[in-house]
Amino acid sequence: MSELAIPFALDPHGVEVPITEATRGRIDYYRCPECGNWLTPFKGAQRKHHYRHKAGVLDDDECELSAISDINRMVDDLRTSDIEKEEQERNIRVYIGEEPGGRHRIFGVIPSADWDQIPVGVDIDSLIQQTSVNSTNIIHPPTSRSFHPSEAEVTFELDPDSDEYEISIDAPDELDIINGTWTANGVEPGDLFVGDQTRARRASSKRQIKTNEWVYGVTSEGTTIDPDEISSHHIGDIELLSFPAREDTADVLSEFGLDLRTDEYGFDADVILPTSAHPTADKPIHATPDEPVLIGVTPSKDLDPVFEIVSVPRAENNETVELEQTGPGNTRFYRTKVPTRGSRRISVHQRNSNRHRLVHLHAVEPKDQEPLSRSMYGRLGLKISPDGTETLLSPLDGDRSYEFDAGDAGSPAALPAFVDYVGPQGLELEIEATFPSNAAMSSVHRSTTDLQSELTNVGHWVSQGCTNLTVTFDGIGDVELTFPDQRSEVSK
Ligand SMILES: [Zn+2]
Repeated sequence: MSELAIPFALDPHGVEVPITEATRGRIDYYRCPECGNWLTPFKGAQRKHHYRHKAGVLDDDECELSAISDINRMVDDLRTSDIEKEEQERNIRVYIGEEPGGRHRIFGVIPSADWDQIPVGVDIDSLIQQTSVNSTNIIHPPTSRSFHPSEAEVTFELDPDSDEYEISIDAPDELDIINGTWTANGVEPGDLFVGDQTRARRASSKRQIKTNEWVYGVTSEGTTIDPDEISSHHIGDIELLSFPAREDTADVLSEFGLDLRTDEYGFDADVILPTSAHPTADKPIHATPDEPVLIGVTPSKDLDPVFEIVSVPRAENNETVELEQTGPGNTRFYRTKVPTRGSRRISVHQRNSNRHRLVHLHAVEPKDQEPLSRSMYGRLGLKISPDGTETLLSPLDGDRSYEFDAGDAGSPAALPAFVDYVGPQGLELEIEATFPSNAAMSSVHRSTTDLQSELTNVGHWVSQGCTNLTVTFDGIGDVELTFPDQRSEVSK
């Protein structure tokens, strides 16, 4: 029987390690996720990389991974995010956060109802009215109204001195996503919360921590701490250490059983657009309906894994979007939109791993009709305003090119005043200006993270005969400006 090629294994911490990240020749280190026996990584130059059971182990032991369909099932199971699994088990997600003003609190999160699950013609308000909610040990309990799909999620403060929390929801079938009894255990010494200062989620022992993530650790009374790095707080009877994960706090972290293992953190998923979004935390991003969203996914510097976009909860048709590989350590981009109403949650998933990054988009109607310049906030591209009207050239959608005619901009020297960069600071762009073959200047090609400064040169380039200016938003797309040849000495 030919040995099956297994794409991931477990390390001694129980963390899935994709074959791409396995150390070649490492013996008796990786274990089979199904039978627990040793796996050996094979990373020959020619053939496809894979793990295999160590020679001989299957002679007297059986492994459930006996067919390619079993392996496919496990690979697929990894696509379900940890958050979705917790919700299926009706676990309340427990967080610690600091409120404006400096007060710390423990709070729980469960999902709200989802517009997609409510059949057309069914009145959501009547469903909500038929829903009853009963809470135990919740300080400000949610009401049925809290679960309306116009809410991004349901949060509620937890009594810090309770051993367990419970919210029972009895709702009509259309609200099955919230139905049931949601529970969580109380907070106790040794618990660790990771995220940012306003929202840190209780972490499992498998959690990989990245430098500069914020950590709250629950300790026993009277722990001595170095006040330079770490502050301490109380919530009820709970004593809390509060600190950023860094080299100089790594010892404290390891006392809680977690290591600072940036090498195995996997990848970053940053929400670039809308620019108002917090780039990393898992809190909902509130934005205008249908507003463009751009997510940059950056793997560790030596790795070029496949990333997938998975809906949360997983769609019935199991559809995933695969992001194109762009080389080791390079950012790849995923474009989408804020939903028309309610929430859309997606998970950026590294294939063959348990690594997921949640992105939660939530549509909020703007209060008033905003002028165009204001509505460009959170957009990406070049804003062109030659005659008082504004046009956005965007690599994401809509117009991508603009043609100046001779009268449009007056003299070339005035051009920089009509062209503005719109987008987040520091995004890497390429700019290319092309000239006719008989021009005094030859093509200009530059990489920049400060396009606005480069744009001050546009007038000069155009006066030298530049006929085309292309700005490439790396991995996203490009926009183009064209000009008539404005060299004064030509064709006279
Ligand atoms: Zn096995």
